[in-house]
Amino acid sequence: MAVVETTFIGASVATENAWHNAQQQFDDAAELLGLEPDLRDVLREPKRELSVHFPVKMDNGHVQMFQGYRVQHNLGRGPAKGGIRYHQDVSLDEVRALAMWMTWKCAIADLPFGGAKGGVIVDPHKLSAGELERLTRRFASEISVLIGPEKDIPAPDVNTTPQMMAWIMDTISMAKGYSVPAVVTGKPLSVGGSAGRNAATGRGCMIVGMEACRKLGIEPSRATVAVQGFGNAGSIAAGLMQGKGFTIVAVSDSRGGIQNRAGLDVAAVIAHKQRTGSVVGFPGSEPVSNMALLELPVDVLIPAALESQITASNAGEIKAKLILEAANGPTTPDADAILAKRGITVIPDVVANAGGVTVSYFEWVQDIQSFFWEEDEVNAKLERVMVKAFNTTWDMAKKHNVPVRLGAYLVAVSRVADATRVRGIYP
Ligand code: NAD
Repeated sequence: MAVVETTFIGASVATENAWHNAQQQFDDAAELLGLEPDLRDVLREPKRELSVHFPVKMDNGHVQMFQGYRVQHNLGRGPAKGGIRYHQDVSLDEVRALAMWMTWKCAIADLPFGGAKGGVIVDPHKLSAGELERLTRRFASEISVLIGPEKDIPAPDVNTTPQMMAWIMDTISMAKGYSVPAVVTGKPLSVGGSAGRNAATGRGCMIVGMEACRKLGIEPSRATVAVQGFGNAGSIAAGLMQGKGFTIVAVSDSRGGIQNRAGLDVAAVIAHKQRTGSVVGFPGSEPVSNMALLELPVDVLIPAALESQITASNAGEIKAKLILEAANGPTTPDADAILAKRGITVIPDVVANAGGVTVSYFEWVQDIQSFFWEEDEVNAKLERVMVKAFNTTWDMAKKHNVPVRLGAYLVAVSRVADATRVRGIYP
């Protein structure tokens, strides 16, 4: 029942403000870096926020109003980059947090981008394909004052797909009178998408997971994994980790979870979800709730759904040795402190899920050059970026004897601060 899903997600998100959490994470890094107060003030606020109300003609002939946002947090290192989310719980504060996290993520991967994010308050499962197309095109048109290949380049996020990216590309191209593929990434291959983009977030997560396991002495063939959120990021990470020898013992989506201590066949679970709309009811599995999944006795936990799932109220119950944040913002700062005290390693979102934006960068480069790469070339380049981002972050954390998230922020914030300092404050 949709209401149960909303209540479950809302239960934790309602008590947590992702934007305040994002600012607190930034403040901790700024403090440790001894960042100048003026620069701190610049970097802890979004540069631009656009809020739009727009009408969509529904199938029943009526017009319905929707609200959406596009927030650009920082453009110091290049054009803004970040996905568009469709979800009933989207809020301006959530989009601000996601935009700031994009700034740090692009800096850690050393991509020439700033950070942005967009969102529309909508449960897309309640709209027809035609309604979704009209909503997507109208939203693209509303935010067209901000987006463009040199300005701000959206991509898919929760509940948005390559098809929707094609509609955004087409809408912007119609207004220009010629094709503008580089305005958006995560497109289908037929309109300038990149080989490897669809799997890039999950692949990057697997690459970083392998590096972290090596550091922690976790042997994949003896390790178990639970994944919360079986969408683009979670299902692909699960499949690729299974390919490396890990046993995937539990997965979930917004309708519930499934477990099997002997291991789930990820490809078969994906096929079941495609057939039925959910992982629930997969033959040979036992049910498990989304909250119980987080507390299962596994070696590796991959939150791959929404923000604020690991909080002060359940961090004491987490049994995994390693948490790989495929989702953005799944762990709150209070929970981080508890996990650090308990010796649980968290590879933060800004590193663990940077594979998506990295291949989005490759897609943008290919579109601008009109020269496309083979998938093995994309994957090899992705691996180089992810391994470097992981090691830079890990070494920084060890150098300062701090959790990996703070190590990642030290790398990111100092890179963005350097760019801001050298550009100067206009005028
Ligand atoms: P998606 O829409 O493909 O999948 C989301 C999945 O999470 C769905 O299976 C949904 O049913 C499930 N879900 C929603 N609420 C849940 C809950 N409370 N508990 C368990 N499952 C729940 O979205 P996605 O693109 O895979 O994004 C997932 C996360 O990864 C988000 O935090 C997103 O910001 C992050 N991310 C995605 C990308 C990307 O390239 N797609 C890149 C970086 C980060």
